[in-house]
Amino acid sequence: AGELSPQALPTEVGYEGALRPGSLAEFVGQEKVREQLGLLLGAAQIEGRTPDHILLAGPPGLGKTTLSMIVATELGVPLQQTSGPAIQHAGDLAAVLSGLTPGEVLFIDEIHRMARSAEEMLYLAMEDFKIDIMVGKGAGATSVPLELSPFTLVGATTRAGLLPNPLRDRFGFTAHLEYYANSELEGVLSRAAGLLDFPLHDAGVVEIAGRSRGTPRIANRLLRRVRDYTLVHGTQPDERSVRAALSLYDVDEHGLDRLDREVLRIIVERFAGGPVGLSTLAASVGEEAETIESVVEPFLMRAGLIARSPRGRIATTLGWSHLGIAPPSSDS
Ligand code: ATP
Repeated sequence: AGELSPQALPTEVGYEGALRPGSLAEFVGQEKVREQLGLLLGAAQIEGRTPDHILLAGPPGLGKTTLSMIVATELGVPLQQTSGPAIQHAGDLAAVLSGLTPGEVLFIDEIHRMARSAEEMLYLAMEDFKIDIMVGKGAGATSVPLELSPFTLVGATTRAGLLPNPLRDRFGFTAHLEYYANSELEGVLSRAAGLLDFPLHDAGVVEIAGRSRGTPRIANRLLRRVRDYTLVHGTQPDERSVRAALSLYDVDEHGLDRLDREVLRIIVERFAGGPVGLSTLAASVGEEAETIESVVEPFLMRAGLIARSPRGRIATTLGWSHLGIAPPSSDS
């Protein structure tokens, strides 16, 4: 959970809000999702109805919360936000649903973590804008139907596959958010630098984008670290300040941090490029296997620095050269 964590740090809530794009037009990148959403919302508005329910699927920090806010803004309706872990009982969900005003957008973050009983209530709510409320206990319990105002559900999840099929099927549209290309991150950074009144040079923008792991949240965080650096040291907002600031925080030119490099180095140096099993690797770097598997590996694989083989993790040619070590010749 350092500078490169895709999760929001508790202290970031305020400034993240300030950097949030307020409309689809301001939202940088994700061209396809933007166009798909634009059509969905536009058609509903022309016909004067609520749009289909929307599922946003993708890794943390790519803009799911931001998009849910944009949906409400574009429709000109209020937004109610909650999250799967906050819905532990069907009653928690009933309270939220029955309080919705006509047309309102309901955002449920981490929707895959909602209680089972609430999930079933949500099916009916999504389909017919109705729920059944249980009144009383035991043999005397009866279910009372309750009409809801029509609403649009926006659900967010890290992977659409985590949702049970009946829930997934009730979303009219699923947007798959992909990691951002460097050119898109440059757009995110230029926009944020403007909002922060920070005249970062273009070369500096490019430099930060390359270290941001395809994630706007990380890009914005690194931007703030660089801004801090120039403020305190009185240096120019240029590429050199970016390099100095980010090396201070152990973020290398491809966005690897100390642990990422350590894992790569162990595969290459101690195990001659691998294959190395997960538990051996974890023990060698002194980290939990879980951390290696869920945080370090996915990024190293996406960056093309390591690969998985049936017998364990191996360093790719790119992985070797990232450490400045010549890979063994390929015919060995
Ligand atoms: P989580 O699920 O962890 O909450 P998220 O996917 O909901 O992550 P957001 O909170 O929406 O991510 O975005 C994180 C930060 O990145 C925000 O400060 C937001 O302003 C910025 N951001 C995300 N996407 C974009 C974008 N396309 N253009 C500009 N800024 C963006």
